[in-house]
Amino acid sequence: NLHLRKQPVTKPKATATIKPMSKEKDHPPPPPQAVLEPASSDRIDGAIYRTGKLLGRGGFAICYEARLAGTKQLYALKIVKSQMPQKKMEQKFQTELQIHSKMNHPNVVRFHRAFSYNQCTFLVLELCPNGSLMDMVKKRKFITEPEVRFWTVQMTGAIKYMHDKGIIHRDLKMGNIFLDKDMNVKIGDFGLAALLMSGKDWTNVRRTTLCGTPNYIAPEILSKDKQGHDHAVDIWSLGIIIFAMLTGKPPFQSTTADEIYRRAREREYDWPELDKTENFISAETKDLVSLMLQPAEDRPDPDTIVQHPFFTCGYMPLSEEILPEFREATPT
Ligand code: ADP
Repeated sequence: NLHLRKQPVTKPKATATIKPMSKEKDHPPPPPQAVLEPASSDRIDGAIYRTGKLLGRGGFAICYEARLAGTKQLYALKIVKSQMPQKKMEQKFQTELQIHSKMNHPNVVRFHRAFSYNQCTFLVLELCPNGSLMDMVKKRKFITEPEVRFWTVQMTGAIKYMHDKGIIHRDLKMGNIFLDKDMNVKIGDFGLAALLMSGKDWTNVRRTTLCGTPNYIAPEILSKDKQGHDHAVDIWSLGIIIFAMLTGKPPFQSTTADEIYRRAREREYDWPELDKTENFISAETKDLVSLMLQPAEDRPDPDTIVQHPFFTCGYMPLSEEILPEFREATPT
């Protein structure tokens, strides 16, 4: 049990076996066999999506595999109730729609369309059939350094793209980073992302939107001091993700959120001793992570990150060498 995610990972099930989710008032009802996208300016006749297996449930959404009728094209269909019980959820979803729909990068989950049907909003997203980095770490216990190298290049490229567009993701964590059919990483879930606007005071935004997973939150988000390095929160989270992939748990893991925050503020973390883990972790990796976990103003930007010796000190795998079952963890 890695304590990395509040919600258990839902194993895909056949549509026929999905039980009605009567207790989960925030989730939409079970999906119809087919979803009809109403006609629009570019689709005169509308489109039909045939829903398939359950991919997973999030805080307020449920996600199914779906096939566009008449084609072989598979998508992830993310469904949320159009009327959400909490204003905060509705805001999160609006942000997600606005920001995600403008993203176009090979390592960001592709946003195809959004439409309303049966009092639900449907997002048609690129399908990531290999789960998230969180699922991967749970399955394998840890990820090898060459794989981490491969994915870190991709994540850094996606972060650079977002930051260049003035977007801070603010909720980067292993559970929000998905794997496509070729095992490339795809950043998803833009629910907490923010559009950086010059001159805007983000101090309140920081405080009022504080949610998500304590383990990945940069210390400056919790402090009252105003700082001009908002985008650096994503670099902090990337440092946490690298550490967690290699060791199986985030560096500041504790029983209470307050203790996690204290340890993060004091940068109190230890790499496991070599004899306590089967995973080799190089001095270069440790150096890169320590740079990412510095105070905001000292953290490297994406261009500086990819110049780091971590990327050249060891093997860089080809994409076909990254397989879900590359190295199964020994059962504990
Ligand atoms: P929420 O915004 O409510 O947290 P998520 O975006 O995390 O919802 O989606 C819920 C779950 O659906 C995820 O944990 C994952 O299992 C699955 N999922 C989301 N997007 C995709 C995708 N593009 N491809 C495959 N599965 C996905």
